[in-house]
Amino acid sequence: MEIIRLPLNPFQMNCYICYDKSTLDCFIFDPGVYYKEEKEKLKNIIESKTLKVKKIFNTHGHLDHILGNEYAIKLTGAPVYAHESDIYFFDNAVEQARLFNIEIDVPSQPDKLISVDDVYNLGESTFRILHTPGHSDGSLSFINDENKFIICGDLVFQGSVGRTDLPGGNMELLLDSVKKLFNSVDDDYTLLPGHMSETTVGNERNYNQFLIGLYGKD
Ligand SMILES: [Zn+2]
Repeated sequence: MEIIRLPLNPFQMNCYICYDKSTLDCFIFDPGVYYKEEKEKLKNIIESKTLKVKKIFNTHGHLDHILGNEYAIKLTGAPVYAHESDIYFFDNAVEQARLFNIEIDVPSQPDKLISVDDVYNLGESTFRILHTPGHSDGSLSFINDENKFIICGDLVFQGSVGRTDLPGGNMELLLDSVKKLFNSVDDDYTLLPGHMSETTVGNERNYNQFLIGLYGKD
């Protein structure tokens, strides 16, 4: 499994391109390309490596994570997957973008709604899904057990957690989601968050100030 991280758009949101080295089958998580050079970069990566993009996933529906969907759909023809609780963000995306003074295409509705029981195979490995609300109602974490990494959207960051002051945000729910996620994996799993650099479950479990008191309660 190869993973390419692309920090994109005015919000510096991390897009992750995951592909299997032998089959070249590929998933793109949050393809938030906005600037012309970002679109060219994504196109270049897909074409130069002859990646076969099978699916596009949105970790959640916030503008910075979905604003490149339309470009990625046109580029790859792949279907978009998201959680149904975040669909309303897709309807409001253009208005939201205007508040930030940016122009985006109207994002089409996701082709598929993700159910937490779904499992997605990519080459030799598998992504299982955990519904991890709190930053938004429809926030998802994608866990790859074979390669021990998690694409966790804006749930938890190195030394921080996702903001909960936006619609659907709820800190109690977010902390419960972090706990549920961390309880379902080992400390050596890499966390690939929606902003900033990667970290590990163990690092955040032990040193993240926002998570102090999360353990030992029950
Ligand atoms: Zn977000």
